[in-house]
Amino acid sequence: MVVCYACGKRFNSNAEFYKHAKEVHGGIENAIYKVVEKPMSFEDFKRISGFVEAEYENGIAKLKILRGVADYNYYIDVWDCKGKLHLGWKEEEGGWVDIGYFLIPKRIYREEVREDIEKICFQVLEDRGGAINQSGKYYLDDEHIGKILLASGICGFEKVKK
Ligand SMILES: [Zn+2]
Repeated sequence: MVVCYACGKRFNSNAEFYKHAKEVHGGIENAIYKVVEKPMSFEDFKRISGFVEAEYENGIAKLKILRGVADYNYYIDVWDCKGKLHLGWKEEEGGWVDIGYFLIPKRIYREEVREDIEKICFQVLEDRGGAINQSGKYYLDDEHIGKILLASGICGFEKVKK
């Protein structure tokens, strides 16, 4: 299922999403990106991250950003049919665990949640209209992050052990 982050609708294929994007949002570009304008100093402008393109004029930053991204530090980096899940930390001090198609931070790994995490990772790729054999960065939305936190027990919800 591909998600249209402009309106939240889900589609069974990229082709259906593209058709919808053109008809409803006036183009694929509009459905994938949005442009936001924020007043800020030039110093701050030089420090902001997570945009695709940016312009600065008269105290206003004009940023082109991807829709539906909860945090630019949360993404799956897919390369060579393998995805590496990044969850905010610049350095994963505990390292990574190979669970098959994905490498996940060791701090969230437990055997009993391996399958759940893998499912969520595949969902991220699907929601972004991608796949494990399509290299690229796939950003997590709020829902993805919530599911991972819940599955991994990071937010205090331990999965009941059988
Ligand atoms: Zn839409």
